[in-house]
Amino acid sequence: MPAVKPEFGAQARQPISVLHGVGPAIARKLHERGIDTLQDLWLQLPVAFEDRTQIVTLDALQLGQTAQIEVRVAAVERGFRFRPMLKVTVQDESLRQLGLRFFHYSSSQASQFQVGRLLRCYGQVRLGANSFEMVHPSYRFITEDQAGVCRDRLDPVYSNIDGIGAATLGKLVRQSLQHLPPEADLELIPEALLRDSGLPGFGAALTAIHEPLPGTTLAELRTGRHPAMQRLALEELLAHHLSLRKQRLAVKAKAARRIDPPASTLEPFLAGLPYRLTAAQQRVIDDIRGDLRSGQPMLRLVQGDVGSGKTVVAALAALSTIRAGGQAALMAPTELLAEQHARTFMDWFAPLGIDTVFLAGKQTAAVRRQNLQCIADGAGMVIGTHALMQDHVQYRQLDLVMVDEQHRFGVDQRLSLRDKGEFEAHSPHQLILTATPIPRTLAMSAYADLDVSVIDELPPGRTPVQTVALANSRRDEVIARIRDYCGQGNQIYWVCTLIDESEDIQAQSAQAAFDLIAGCLPGIEVALLHSKVPPAEKSRIMRDFKDNRIQVLVATTVIEVGVDVPNASVMVIENAERLGLAQLHQLRGRVGRGSTASHCLLMYQAPLSAMARERIEVMRQTDNGFLIAEKDLELRGPGELLGTRQTGDTGYRIADLSRDASLLPEVLRLAERLMQRYPEQSDLLVARWIGSAARFAHA
Ligand code: ADP
Ligand code: MG
Repeated sequence: MPAVKPEFGAQARQPISVLHGVGPAIARKLHERGIDTLQDLWLQLPVAFEDRTQIVTLDALQLGQTAQIEVRVAAVERGFRFRPMLKVTVQDESLRQLGLRFFHYSSSQASQFQVGRLLRCYGQVRLGANSFEMVHPSYRFITEDQAGVCRDRLDPVYSNIDGIGAATLGKLVRQSLQHLPPEADLELIPEALLRDSGLPGFGAALTAIHEPLPGTTLAELRTGRHPAMQRLALEELLAHHLSLRKQRLAVKAKAARRIDPPASTLEPFLAGLPYRLTAAQQRVIDDIRGDLRSGQPMLRLVQGDVGSGKTVVAALAALSTIRAGGQAALMAPTELLAEQHARTFMDWFAPLGIDTVFLAGKQTAAVRRQNLQCIADGAGMVIGTHALMQDHVQYRQLDLVMVDEQHRFGVDQRLSLRDKGEFEAHSPHQLILTATPIPRTLAMSAYADLDVSVIDELPPGRTPVQTVALANSRRDEVIARIRDYCGQGNQIYWVCTLIDESEDIQAQSAQAAFDLIAGCLPGIEVALLHSKVPPAEKSRIMRDFKDNRIQVLVATTVIEVGVDVPNASVMVIENAERLGLAQLHQLRGRVGRGSTASHCLLMYQAPLSAMARERIEVMRQTDNGFLIAEKDLELRGPGELLGTRQTGDTGYRIADLSRDASLLPEVLRLAERLMQRYPEQSDLLVARWIGSAARFAHA
């Protein structure tokens, strides 16, 4: 196996200050964006490309097209109607005319436009008052002998960095590329492993993207199909995968408390449950107990569809830990869910003599102080939102960290809770729960640091939820049905959806729905829940709903995850067309938890887009979370599935999991070989793409 030469990558690691024009001020700005070395600049790929390889004649222009034209000034008009405006009418040999419009310009700029002068413009074609126009196109005047001569390749466009313009960054990148060493000093994927893929080397790929060769098309680059893009995406996915695998190794190298209570310790708890565990739950618990007794930190993801009974699995893991003298913490993504869990665990654990502490964001100082004290004194079970991992929360002996609905958190949050239980060579056990069933390859890349157990069976006696779709115009009919359902003793969720609106507006719209529904249903107890309802009131409403003192709960999507009220059997979702499949599935999962037949009414605003129609159709046809997730992946890409929707950032520079999913099997294969046979290369790959900031550095 070829060892990496010590000087390997020396060129790549040179500081950007070796470039002309990089003084301390620019170096600082680039540093803030994580750009310190030449290699960091190489990896600043263009954000777009402009096609100036051809001239489009005015008669061939299409509305909306971005194009290069070569024209002569035909007339100039300076107007001041509402604000200063320069309008230049231009014309080409096709004798068509087009307007160039500028709202900001200097008078010297204006005076350059003399009738008859020849210029090149590049911009987007819009519809003007009586002809096509371009607003603020980029342009330059050319001489007669430059006429008709075009560039032979696409122009890369770079991003703006605070205080550094795109053009300046582009120049720096071009300059850095002059220092690109030969492939032998760049390539980290051993040739033997890459040979069959037909993809170019790393350096060749970089050059091909920064300086596209003649003949490279915009489409190839935009869709990522260009071999150079594929090559870099492959390498990036590989680096991320390796980084997760290394994190895993680093954690597994630590010791963890051996937790192995005799089965009889769990019996009083199991005997108190009103049901028997399903075979799937039992299997997953066996996996967990195996991890807990191994002496190495558990790193396990439990995947189970909505309603499959993950909470009780978490409780059993906690109970084992607490009986062994440690503490267990459970983190939930919303306060509502955390509080529900707190209540469930208190009911379960109090009879066993175990203290459960609920740490909420909005508790009074006195309550909070008392809770913190209990945690420091070693209360067995601690439940809360991300408040659990704040600095001032000190645990006595945190041995098990559990995260519910992991897809709602970033990876960072999970890791910082783990840090709470870490000391020297010890790490707590980690159990991650998620309802999001993700396709296998995607799971292997996103959760490469975790072992996975699946609860692939629902508790017995559930009847599938009947789903129907109704246009908003049939709201009266829906309300009449609600009245009937209530008459039969059912409880109902009515969910108002407004996406991307402020919490205030969401609350207002829920309030309006509440007023209407409550007005139409005299004698029926209707309550309203949204994020602006004070916490104490929220708790009261949830308790009353759970105890069937409220029949209809009008709510925003605050109830989306985790809420468990088995007697609720009808879910109405307003404007269902605005929600993605994952969200619809989660919401619908709030019903169908008891033995009564449940219904889901999806209301929508007509006309439906093709995509929305398809989503609603999928919801009507299946309640299998796995099928729904696959459909979601197909329709929308993996952001939703992997929980990156919240952060809006997948952490990738080039790769795009939905576009590049086909690379994943190759990524897994390469990772295996590299880890085994080329450890140095894999370290360097991680450093190249993720850098010294990588979490694994202090895992
Ligand atoms: P999720 O996996 O969505 O978190 P929960 O843990 O909230 O599911 O459980 C859903 C419902 O199923 C709860 O009402 C719970 O009491 C019930 N449940 C869990 N396990 C079983 C079981 N083995 N048999 C019957 N009901 C169960
Ligand atoms: Mg749950």
